[in-house]
Parts: sequence; structure tokens; C-alpha cells
Amino acid sequence: MNDAAPELLRIDDGDRFESLRLIPWWDQERLSRTRILVVGAGALGNEAIKNLALLGVGHLAVVDMDTVESSNLSRSVLFRASDAGRRKAEVAAERAAEINPQIQITPLASDVLSGVGLGWFADADIVLGCLDNREARLWVNRCCWHVGTPWIDAGIQEISGVVQVFVPPDGTCYECGMKQADYRLINLRYSCPLLRQEDVRRGRVPTTPTIASIMAGWQVQEALKLVHAQSTSASSAMVFHGMTNHVYRTNLPRHEACLSHDPWDPAERLPEVTAESTAAELFAAAARAVNDAPLRLRLHRDLVRGFACGGCGHEQTLLQGLLATRASEAVCPSCGATMTAEIVGDVATSAAELSEKKLSELGIPAADIVTLEFAAGPRRFRLADPTFAPTGSLPGAPSEEAASRSGEAEP
Ligand SMILES: [Zn+2]
Ligand SMILES: [Zn+2]
Repeated sequence: MNDAAPELLRIDDGDRFESLRLIPWWDQERLSRTRILVVGAGALGNEAIKNLALLGVGHLAVVDMDTVESSNLSRSVLFRASDAGRRKAEVAAERAAEINPQIQITPLASDVLSGVGLGWFADADIVLGCLDNREARLWVNRCCWHVGTPWIDAGIQEISGVVQVFVPPDGTCYECGMKQADYRLINLRYSCPLLRQEDVRRGRVPTTPTIASIMAGWQVQEALKLVHAQSTSASSAMVFHGMTNHVYRTNLPRHEACLSHDPWDPAERLPEVTAESTAAELFAAAARAVNDAPLRLRLHRDLVRGFACGGCGHEQTLLQGLLATRASEAVCPSCGATMTAEIVGDVATSAAELSEKKLSELGIPAADIVTLEFAAGPRRFRLADPTFAPTGSLPGAPSEEAASRSGEAEP
């Protein structure tokens, strides 16, 4: 036996959170059960994920469809030059697991608007918006208000930033503060038959790693307070002007007519239906569950069924989300005119051809909450795809912790 061994064990008792536990209101076990959905793994997302991993927030999911580029390396603590071309969400998840092997983190390499089912928002305790555009913020806001999950938005530009805490259903939401100009800027991204223009590129906002660190630190600190039921700055914006170091908090007025204020009743679970089931299977399962026949499935993301050319009569069939459809796809291959898109907003139970499609082919992501219309009105159903891992499965029992420290087990 080495004499130093008992001494080492005494110094490092394996509790990486020892100093955090000294904070009187701190509840590390509660943090280990907490589920946070981080939307965006750019400069802000990197800092937020780093903080959440250090703090031992037990269950994270990270949404980002982009890949790592060299320009990210000056602002993203989790990325390395060798990560170029890999999905940001996957790299961020790997690095967070290195920082803290006790947490579970799921990468979702998807567009938050089209590829992240509402179940992820419903199962999260808190959503963090680490985004760089209004369109995604508005989408996250509406998702959170439907399912009643608080979300904290951070925004940065140059060396200044803002953090806003939104708590449904009674607080102020992101959309309450939107002006006509904001809606105009969102609509700028779409051209006439509503398809996204390739040439309207998302404007690049210049930012520094210092402001990302400051604002994501503030954002995660507000999340910690929400988790511990401490009072937060809900319904207000905390603004930091980096050049003058001027900090102020401004209350955000609530607009009662705001379109985002649309809380949904809890969805009924359909254990046998996933995004890989067909619409017909969904209709049958829902009919069994509520003992009534649905009339139609409402699509929350518009679907392009095909194109028709008004100039030469050329027709083309397609089945693709409107968000994923580019303006260049609407150019007629015969005459070069812009074709008109046939956009589908629902699938009737009588529509035999569409009913045989998988829900994923109809643009419905895994774990989504779907709306079926019945004669008596709409009802929500939750698809059975999993989201966050069950909270009971979290590694961190003393034996596992000891094993991973001695290198006997991989995280
Ligand atoms: Zn609102
Ligand atoms: Zn044509």
C-alpha cells in the first residue's frame, strides 16, 4: 500500500460539486434531475453548454443543424480546428461529456423549426435560446407557450447583449415585444410563393467570445434560479452595453392579443405511434384512444405537395416541408418561369394517398405533438418517440463515479 493513497482519497472524495453545495439554497440533486433544451450551439450555445456541464445539469439536448467552420473557432470553447465539417450539435455534446461525464447530453442536428418535435419542449424544464435570428426565436417562443415551458433568450451583438426570461402562461413572451419591423424582417427571408430565397442569406452578426461568455453566463444563472424556484427577472429584459458598461433591466409589457398565447391542453400519449408510423396508423390509434373517428390531421409545418407552371403547364409532384424548399426548386425546368407551389396544411382521413405516408414524410418530427380534428373539436396527441433519457438512468452512483475516475469505465 502506498502511504499517499489514503491522503489522496481524503482530499478528493469524488464530489466535483463540493464547493457549489456550500451555497445555502443549492440543490445539486435537483440539478442532476433537470432537463434543459439548448437551442443553438454557436458562440452563446457553446458557453451555455459549457456552464451547464460544469454545473452538473443532468440532462441536456442541443439543437443545431450547422457544421463547424473555422470562423467559429474564435468564439466557441467546445470546437477545435479538427472538428471542421462536423455537426455543431454532435461536437458540442461530445465535449460537454468530456467536461462532465456524469451528465447525459443528446445532440439534435436539425433545424429547430422543422426537425425538433414539440415533445422535447414539453419534457424540458427550461429551454435556452442561443440563437441569432428572430424567426427561430419566435418559433421557440410559440413552442414553449403551447406546452408551458419557461425559456430564457440571450442575444449578442459586438460587445453588448440582452437576456430575457419568459415564463408561460401569465408572463410576457418574446412575441409580445415584436414590432411590425420584426415581422417584416422575418418575412424578408421568404420570396413570393413563400419559399426561402437562397440569396437572402442570414445576416452575420459580429460578436466576441467575451460577450458570449458574459451573456450566456447570465442566461444560465437565471436558469439556475428558475430550477431552484428563486425569483427571476421574468417578463423583463436585462441589457448590457459593453462599451459603457451600462447595465439596466426593463420590464416587458404583456400584449393580451399576442398570437403566441395559445396554451395547449396536455397531449394524450399514443404509445404505439411514432414519427415512422403512417398517418393512417395515427388515425386508427387516435380513434381507439378516444372512441371517435378523427376527420383530419392538422400540419403545423406546411408541406409542398408539388409545383405547377402557369406558363407552360408543366407539373411536378413533391412531398417536402415548405421550410426545406428552396426558391430554385420552383423554377420550371421546361420554360424557366417560376412555378406555383401546391401547399398542403392538413391531411384528411379520406385522403388515401397522403394517409399512407409516414408522419416523418409529412414533415412531422420525432416526439412531436400532433393535432387531430374531430367533429367535437381539435385534440392533441403525443408521439411515442423518446426525448430526454429517463431521469433514473443518470450515471453518478458512487460506485460508477469511482470506476470512471480510475479509468475502468468509459463515460
Ligand atoms: Zn406574448
Ligand atoms: Zn413552364
